[in-house]
Amino acid sequence: MRVGNGYDVHAFEAGDHLMIGGQRIAFDKGFRAHSDGDVLLHAICDALLGAAGLGDIGRHFPDTDAAWKGADSRHLLQAVIALLHDRGLHCISLDATVVAERPKLARHAPAIVALLAADLSLAADRINIKATTSERMGFCGREEGIAAMATVLLDESATR
Ligand code: MG
Repeated sequence: MRVGNGYDVHAFEAGDHLMIGGQRIAFDKGFRAHSDGDVLLHAICDALLGAAGLGDIGRHFPDTDAAWKGADSRHLLQAVIALLHDRGLHCISLDATVVAERPKLARHAPAIVALLAADLSLAADRINIKATTSERMGFCGREEGIAAMATVLLDESATR
């Protein structure tokens, strides 16, 4: 077994939607980012890479690389999963938390879980997506941006 954690933050800018967990969520702001700014998928990618001992998302998908400009972060996630599978590593548990005053994410959680279950080839009951506010404190509380944290457990057995 190998465990990894990931953390990501993106600030808001003018816009009309957010990408969170691969879901397009209508909102009165957007994310300032080189890619689509999907904080949740970025935190999950970093947790997966961390557990695998493969560095971090910036090493694999540098924001100086035009190839990832405006990238769909689900493609980043799928690329990370492929790196793990090449090494006989499979995610067997995922827990994540998104910190945001708005938008409310609870109603989007089932769709996010379904997307992650498909990409990770993992049963939905092994994936948990939580949302919390920051009680109006700090950058999340002031609605300057959103943070996400993820923890994963990888199975190292190559027999699956
Ligand atoms: Mg990011």
